Amino acid sequence: MHRLDNNKASVLLDCGSRLDKNQIPLPDRLKRNTNVNAVVLSHPHTDHVGDLPNFVEQGFKGGIFSVHPTKDITAALLFQNEPRHRAESVMEKYKPTVDHNQRVEVAEGIYVTFIPAAHILGSSFTLIENNGLRILFSGDVGNKNKKLFDFPETLPEADVLLLESTYGARELHPDFNNSLNDMYHSIDRTISRSGNFPISVFSIQRTQELLYHLNKGKYEGQLPDDLRIVLDAPLGEVVTDIYLHYREYFSDEISSAFNMMGNPFAYTTHYDGKPCVILASSSISGSEGKIVQHYINGLENPNNTFAFPSYRPPGSLADRLARGCDTVHLRGKSLEVKAEIYDPRGFSSHADATQLFEIVKMVKPKIVFLVHGENIPRIALKEKIRGSVGEVILPGIAEEFDLETVLSKRAA
Ligand SMILES: [Zn+2]
Repeated sequence: MHRLDNNKASVLLDCGSRLDKNQIPLPDRLKRNTNVNAVVLSHPHTDHVGDLPNFVEQGFKGGIFSVHPTKDITAALLFQNEPRHRAESVMEKYKPTVDHNQRVEVAEGIYVTFIPAAHILGSSFTLIENNGLRILFSGDVGNKNKKLFDFPETLPEADVLLLESTYGARELHPDFNNSLNDMYHSIDRTISRSGNFPISVFSIQRTQELLYHLNKGKYEGQLPDDLRIVLDAPLGEVVTDIYLHYREYFSDEISSAFNMMGNPFAYTTHYDGKPCVILASSSISGSEGKIVQHYINGLENPNNTFAFPSYRPPGSLADRLARGCDTVHLRGKSLEVKAEIYDPRGFSSHADATQLFEIVKMVKPKIVFLVHGENIPRIALKEKIRGSVGEVILPGIAEEFDLETVLSKRAA
């Protein structure tokens, strides 16, 4: 999260919680500052909206702003993860939602425009305008190789760019189509030896994206026509319904898939014991979610294949499994890992360094703040872009900057 103050108002950009419980908590200084007039949400992943219930409980009195699908998915996420009264107290703060590219005043003199960011349904760059100063916050930027949403061809110019840097150290992602074909082959192999293919998924975006590619694989004959796609992810079901509701947010490829395939996100929740692909919800560490029961049921069967296409923190259960560990301990049981392990590459929903650099070139900022990344990718990205912008800053947590001073120093 980031806070912007002018002399009249204060706006928070996103209000996330840490995904990994081992990470250091956010400083109280940021969390408890409830004299904020508005919270502006880029997209509803937990690390961008998950702290809203605490923020409201601590006394936030302002309004929450986003595009339509972000509100719906935020509600789904909070009602799933929080006591009802805490979720309701957040949703009561919501102001009327807007469309992409619609300008709205969120606090006195501060205007916001959401611009598509191709990361998940409705995800947005946020352009903030305040008294002639233009700040563009990237939120999370999508991976251009993916086809669900259109990657922006142009972006507005801004004085200041707050840019995510998750993959700042990766020049290029592996080719997505190669990764996908590889996964189709792996599924085929597994099903033909009567095994199951459980995939560890996050409920927002990775689930819907895989549902689409599995249905497309069946439609185009790369996967067996009668392949069963089982979804074992309660939040994933709700979010998939929201995806189906907002067809106008998708790329042309998905729009035509609706016409050709009917429902491109089709699945069943009924598991009848026959070989199938199972999308099972997982926490980021892999030790919570529906996937755990599938580990217990299936890790010791050499006919099965477990796939790990999502980010996992180093040393976590999901990471150890994806790296091919021999045994795991779950719910008091020791399990020998005999199933095949599949660690597909190229599925990231974040831009690589080359794509992030394209954004810098479009926005032409005077100053770039590199945020939302570990230090290694931030430093790598700084090296890559420093010749193209006036100044690149790697801010510390809760570090404050007077933008007018920084900008006038640049101009001097
Ligand atoms: Zn995200």
